[in-house]
Order: sequence, then C-alpha cells, then structure tokens
Amino acid sequence: MAESKVRKAAAPKAEPVVKKAAVEPAGKSAVKPAVKSAVKSAVKSAAKPAVKPRKPESHLAMVRRARRINRELAELYPYAHPELDFENPFQLLVATVLSAQTTDLRVNQTTPALFAAYPTPEDMAAANPEELEEIIRPTGFFRNKAKSLIGLSIALRDEFGGEVPGRLADLVTLPGVGRKTANVVLGNAFGVPGITVDTHFGRLARRFGWTAEEDPVKVEAAVAEIFPKSEWTMLSHRVVFHGRRICHSQKPACGACPIAPLCPAYGEGVTDPEKARKLLKYEMGGQPGQRLRPPADFPGEAAARADAVAHHGQVADLAVADPAVSDLAVADSAVAE
Ligand code: SF4
Repeated sequence: MAESKVRKAAAPKAEPVVKKAAVEPAGKSAVKPAVKSAVKSAVKSAAKPAVKPRKPESHLAMVRRARRINRELAELYPYAHPELDFENPFQLLVATVLSAQTTDLRVNQTTPALFAAYPTPEDMAAANPEELEEIIRPTGFFRNKAKSLIGLSIALRDEFGGEVPGRLADLVTLPGVGRKTANVVLGNAFGVPGITVDTHFGRLARRFGWTAEEDPVKVEAAVAEIFPKSEWTMLSHRVVFHGRRICHSQKPACGACPIAPLCPAYGEGVTDPEKARKLLKYEMGGQPGQRLRPPADFPGEAAARADAVAHHGQVADLAVADPAVSDLAVADSAVAE
C-alpha cells in the first residue's frame, strides 16, 4: 500500500520532461537538450559531496576549517617531503634555484654531475660560466641560472665564510634567492619553520579561502596567521603535494578530492568522479616526478616515515588501477615554481 503511494507520487515527476519533449514539434533536436540537461543536473547533484549550504564564514570558522584541511592533507600525504635531492644546505640552495620553471625530477637528474664538478661554494664561485651552463642546460634558463649560482657562491665565499646562512634576512641577499627559495632552505635544511609560497601553494590557499591575496609575500603572511609555526614547513609540502597530484591549476580533480567537503572551491574543476579520477597524478616508486633519492630524514619532518611506505602502497594502488594516473605530473610541475 505504502509502496504504491510512493510509486504514484514519483511517477508524475518523471513524466513531464519526457512527454513535453515527445510532443515537441521540433522533434529530435528538441528532445535532446531537455533530456541532456535533466541527465546533466542529475549527474551533477550525484557527484556533489554532502556539504551544507555555506553561510558567510567567520574568521574563527575559517581557521578551524583550514586546520582540518591540514590534518586531512597530513593523512593523505604522510610521506610529503621536499622533492629535490640534497645532502647539505648548499646543495638544497642550488637545487632550489635550478628548480625555477622546470620539474624537480629534471633538477634531480642534473645535480649529481653539478655537485660532482663543484662540491663547495668556493668551487662553484670559481667555475667557468660556460662549463657550468652546459651542465645545467637541461633545467632551462641556464644562462641566468648559471649567473645566479656563481653569484650566490661568490657571496657565500666572501661574505658568509663559505657557509649557507640560516637566517632569512641573509639568504634573501644572495643573488637569485627570494623568500620562496629562502624558506625552502630554512625549513628543510635548517629546521627553521617556513611557508613556501610557490605557484601551487598560492593557488590552493586561495581556493581553500585562506586568503584572496595574489602576492606571494601577502599569501605567506595571511597563512602564517592561521597556522602555528611548527606546522609551516610540512603544511607547505602537503599543500604543494595536493596541488601537484589532485588540485591542478587547469583541471582540479574535485570529483576525486578527499577534502572536497572542506573546500569552498569545489566545482571549479571536474566533479564527475570517474573523469576526475583519471586526472589524478600520483607517483609510484621509480616513476618520473618522484624524488630519486628520498632523504633518510630531514629537519622539517622526523615523524611520518614509519607509515609512509604503507600509505604509499595504498596510494600507488590508485596508479596501478588506472594507467592514466601513473602518467605523471611532469607536465603539471613544469609550470610550477
Ligand atoms: S575540491 Fe577541487 S578545488 Fe577544492 S581542493 Fe579539491 S580539487 Fe581543489
């Protein structure tokens, strides 16, 4: 009895679209748009995560949501780490300068020969520019980068006793070194908390509603207000990992994004779960985009390594299941930094 009532009630709702379309004088061409738009809106509402309509958000609520996003990202990327290979602050400084407008993988493929030829700031300061350019040529913009590397090496040799300084104010005086590079070095080679605002971080901070600022320095200041210092370095890695793997610049994979319910920009990208899943760019061991020599440890993070392998296995399953997923973020990270 109750069931037939439900059927009766449901039937009239479905009818009008079909009937109206069926009697439409324009025939097939008129049917298609009506059916298409009905299907489209059904798919759209099915893909949408169960989020309550958003009221204007208080600052406190935004801070809470931001910190929850950070916790979720920590679970999603327990293995987040600097993706440049380095063994000391000088190597990280050089690698970070080289990473502008290219992939971390490309830099990691280039630096072994570079550091073999010029292991110290003194060696690099005395380098023949043309020989150095030739080694770093694959990273692009090699003339400017060579100039910066020789310039910063001379400054390190002459003004800092051949050591990379551990203070932001000193680092940014080096040729080719801005706040982003300085924060990378501070956070990962010295364990001094730093927020690294690269293209991924800035884009995601705006999508998350943490700030509307475009200027990286203002983004850094706004985000610094939201999170405790102790989180800054790892937050930077997690956000960049999310930007490279899921929340891409052109086509964010919203329909496959685990933090969609916390994100005000949900819907900016592809919401269809199947299509979104094909956009994911997770790394697998030994695949392009993955760090060639993962660190045994680094000052920014000592904790998460134990379960990193287990979680990484879980993430890698995604890539195994979908070959498109293992086709890595090289193109994506090429526009990074
Ligand atoms: S929901 Fe979309 S815009 Fe928001 S973080 Fe996820 S992929 Fe990015």
